[in-house]
Amino acid sequence: MPQRFLCDDYRDVGEQKCTRNHNLPDEGRAIKNERRLIVQIVNLPLTRVILANMPAEPQKTFYLETFGCQMNVHDSEKVIGTLISQGYRQVSTVEDAGLILYNTCSIRDKAEQKVFHRLADYKKLQAQGKKFGVLGCVAQQEGEKIFERAPHVSMVCGSASYRNLPQMLIQIEEGKRATGLDDRETDECFETEFTSRSNPHRGYITIIEGCDKFCAYCVVPFTRGKERSRASDSVLAEAHQMADLGYTEIQLLGQNVNSYKDPAGGSSVKKKTFAELLAAVAAVPGIKRVRFTTSHPRDFGRDIVQAIESVPTLCDHVHLPVQTGSTRVLDAMQRLYTREQYLERISWMKAAKREISITTDIIVGFPGETEAEFQETLSLLDEVEYDGIFGFKYSPRPNTPALKLEDPIPDAEKARRLAVLQEKQRSIQMRRNSSNLGKVFEVMVEGKNEARGQWIGRTSQNKVMNFKVPEGAIPTVGGYVSVVTTATFPNSLAGEMVI
Ligand code: SAM
Ligand code: SF4
Repeated sequence: MPQRFLCDDYRDVGEQKCTRNHNLPDEGRAIKNERRLIVQIVNLPLTRVILANMPAEPQKTFYLETFGCQMNVHDSEKVIGTLISQGYRQVSTVEDAGLILYNTCSIRDKAEQKVFHRLADYKKLQAQGKKFGVLGCVAQQEGEKIFERAPHVSMVCGSASYRNLPQMLIQIEEGKRATGLDDRETDECFETEFTSRSNPHRGYITIIEGCDKFCAYCVVPFTRGKERSRASDSVLAEAHQMADLGYTEIQLLGQNVNSYKDPAGGSSVKKKTFAELLAAVAAVPGIKRVRFTTSHPRDFGRDIVQAIESVPTLCDHVHLPVQTGSTRVLDAMQRLYTREQYLERISWMKAAKREISITTDIIVGFPGETEAEFQETLSLLDEVEYDGIFGFKYSPRPNTPALKLEDPIPDAEKARRLAVLQEKQRSIQMRRNSSNLGKVFEVMVEGKNEARGQWIGRTSQNKVMNFKVPEGAIPTVGGYVSVVTTATFPNSLAGEMVI
């Protein structure tokens, strides 16, 4: 058997030589510990621990600001890990940074304008030798136009090209411009060598990238490219690595996680369905909670509910965006399901042996949405009784088919509908949360609110629990405790730790 080596983020790199000369497998534990230090300090004052691993002065520094969804947050973790591996140190202010990066989101509003305004604000810093890079969806959407409108920018890089960052960094250090925009069909984006997770207990794993569904309003298929799934054995390998590092909660990520199609090949490797992958990740020793987001109603099968019912480590929470309660508007949005089909999926969850908390996304003011159709969305809220919603005003996006639709709704009317929607949902949440009074939940401890003298945690159903502890007890952040609910609010629960 050839010797196997471990690289410095504890990925098994097979027969390649480790870049940091940690050549023996039994050095793995030490490498893991070193890696854990790096993992834990990201987004905190980084200087002390990172410096121990980095060359002496002078050090290259970067500042990274992230906008948007969990996918972007996780992409930033990959970017940070890659920069650290290239000898950069993360700093918390633009003033301290040599390289200023924006990881952008273009899902709603005039995201591109906001980015250009921000870049214009920082133009004066160019005279101090600082460099600028635009990453993520606005980078992919606007491409090299960014260099025209903001000539002080040196790097434009879409999310599928982050593995090319080391070469791109060399280019910009040499004073050249670097672009990474051509790779929206690659599946190599899953295999990022360095990931600096910002939370040492709970971490993300991307299982599917891009989207082929082309909903009429949505920019994602244009910015993140074709849908491609990551092989289940690669997902499981990362889950095992995370468990070895002490993570107990994993969140599987994708624009539509349940559209997952395992590309694993070969006669010896059985392809896993999404539900099977969920169960396999949940069975990794050391993992206590598995979440997944986002699910698409069209691909939501009963097997997902059955997996939640039978695997206790799968969290009892499903985020299933509906967008609207009107079948006519669903059709105009090209969602390819009806209100009734959506409600059928809800009924599977409501009938489950465990109580599953259900959340959703809703868009109000899609072109042509009538008052009666908006009322159908309100009646859907009553029918489903969601545990939480994310409500958005429809926002026209470049390249999308909905741009051509007539009958735009004035912004003031969209704002009114959103306010009505949120007010209705608030009373539903008040009612739903009050049914938890007196119940005991297992809570993952997230931290302490010193001002209030309360600890903060999260239930398996993804509800925030603020709780008091008995005199002398000090819960461990990242640990799990039992909490009895003593008060309920629309957006959170409050309770006392049970010993
Ligand atoms: N793939 C998921 C699905 O289809 O259910 C949603 C992912 S999308 C990144 C997150 C949410 O942003 C969507 O569910 C939708 O509610 C919202 N969204 C997307 N495009 C939008 C637009 N043009 N205007 C307003 N909201 C939008
Ligand atoms: Fe956008 Fe629709 Fe794809 Fe979701 S399914 S990411 S809303 S195109």
